[in-house]
Amino acid sequence: MKQKSVLIIGAGLAGIAAAAHLAKRGLHITVLEKNAHPGGRCDHFVREGHTFDTGPTLLIMPHVYEDEFAALGTSLSERLDLRRVDPTYHLMFDNGSRLNLTSDLKSMQDQLEAIEPDSFAGYLRYMQESHRHYTQAMRCLVNREFRHAGDFFNLRNLPLLFSLKPLARHYSHMGAFFDEPRLKAAFTFQDMYMGLSPFEAPATFSMMSYTEMAHGVWYPTGGLYQVVEAMMAIACEAGAEFLYNCPVSQINLNGQHITGVTLQDGQCLEADAVLANADLPYVYQELLPPEKTAQQLLKKRYSCSVLSFFWGVDRVYPELGPHTLFLGDNYQANFETVIHEMAVPENPCLYVHAPARLDPAMAPAGQDTITAIVPIGHMIEGQDPDWKAIIKQARQAVFKRLEPLGIHDLDAHIKFETCFTPLSWHKRYNLVKGATHGLCHNLTQLGYLRPGNRHARYHNLYFVGASTHPGTGMPTALISARLTSQRIVEDLGLGL
Ligand SMILES: Cc1cc2nc3c(=O)[nH]c(=O)nc-3n(C[C@H](O)[C@H](O)[C@H](O)COP(=O)(O)OP(=O)(O)OC[C@H]3O[C@@H](n4cnc5c(N)ncnc54)[C@H](O)[C@@H]3O)c2cc1C
Repeated sequence: MKQKSVLIIGAGLAGIAAAAHLAKRGLHITVLEKNAHPGGRCDHFVREGHTFDTGPTLLIMPHVYEDEFAALGTSLSERLDLRRVDPTYHLMFDNGSRLNLTSDLKSMQDQLEAIEPDSFAGYLRYMQESHRHYTQAMRCLVNREFRHAGDFFNLRNLPLLFSLKPLARHYSHMGAFFDEPRLKAAFTFQDMYMGLSPFEAPATFSMMSYTEMAHGVWYPTGGLYQVVEAMMAIACEAGAEFLYNCPVSQINLNGQHITGVTLQDGQCLEADAVLANADLPYVYQELLPPEKTAQQLLKKRYSCSVLSFFWGVDRVYPELGPHTLFLGDNYQANFETVIHEMAVPENPCLYVHAPARLDPAMAPAGQDTITAIVPIGHMIEGQDPDWKAIIKQARQAVFKRLEPLGIHDLDAHIKFETCFTPLSWHKRYNLVKGATHGLCHNLTQLGYLRPGNRHARYHNLYFVGASTHPGTGMPTALISARLTSQRIVEDLGLGL
């Protein structure tokens, strides 16, 4: 029997993992990537001995990686050298107070109660509830497919409306556990990873802070790009072929059947199925014939973007932990600006990463590698922002935020700087609106309501990755790859 073939558009983490699954099932897999190397958003670069992860810096939900590596016939520990980061974050507040989020319960008790008397009991109750949110949401919403409306809207799922609290707003719901705004902020900022403000995110998303606290934040020696390297090794061992500098310009069809793709250089490739890992709204807008869905997708809610600064520094800043988060008293106004305007907030909440605290090889001896991430709104059509002014404002905001840590001279010690704006995210990875997390995860863009893993009309065109089901993040990319690969294998008649 002729070997069936699948063309995968994009070598992001989800595309690579899908290539590994499908090649293992005996399919002929060719991955076409526009850039010169794999990884997509999970990217990196090395300059003058400084290694920068330009996308993810936090490995969360390690058990999901364990399961997904096992599903590929290998193990996480065989492929990656992971260590737990504890404290996960060093949180800095405007009034100079600090909170180190740690698995050490005694330390948590002391720190929380120094901020709000008797708040440790609230913390334990929060963990209990968020544990329920995590386990139920993973089982019922994330780790499964929704092929039909009835898979989602049914009597069995009805109790989730009460147990997962999807209709309660996360931040207001925090009032059930804490009075102190700093503590409400400390366990809700993670909603940003879903592209949402805690003031509109469902309380279900307490699952994010839960998993960071309960399962930990981890770091692979060599940085997060090692996950890409490990998955690439698995896919290549299984026989998948990767072609770089190979942008796809069109998905070809004959009636309702996808026949293959056309590359930017005019070459046509044929296959039994096409799997698009590139950002789903981009695929509808740029690679498929015009249709109503493309316009509808443009009107959906997108996550915000970020300005990222990558600094090679000629001295070490031991004052900086690996993951430092600066939260502001203007917490709500911060999100309003980031979600609704393309501007840097006054006194922005921001994140600083110093990977050499976790792996000294990430910077040359006696020097430091520093990344600062300042959230900013996604691109808005018709607006032409003054990037120079925005970058300058964000840069100054980072320096100002570092001062309470005793860091006053960073500017003078920067050897080189690279900065990514929303435009960079858009150009590098074809992310619509430069939205770093793609379509956001509000209630109307979750589960069955999120664009699915198979095209509704072209049944041999599939989608995998952040803007499709189950959603954004590296662990989710791996789950998305497994679920979609299973469906392709089934549809091509290769099941069991
Ligand atoms: C700044 C930032 C920080 C993050 N932090 C974390 C974190 O700490 N932890 C975590 O778990 N997640 C994090 N994430 C989210 C995570 O990186 C993404 O959800 C995940 O990497 C998305 O993978 P993907 O495969 O879905 O898509 P992508 O990585 O976008 O892959 C799609 C690929 O398709 C390629 N492509 C696009 N168009 C074409 C075309 N026409 N032809 C060929 N190829 C094409 C792109 O170049 C890209 O390689 C972060 C993301 C960002 C941006």
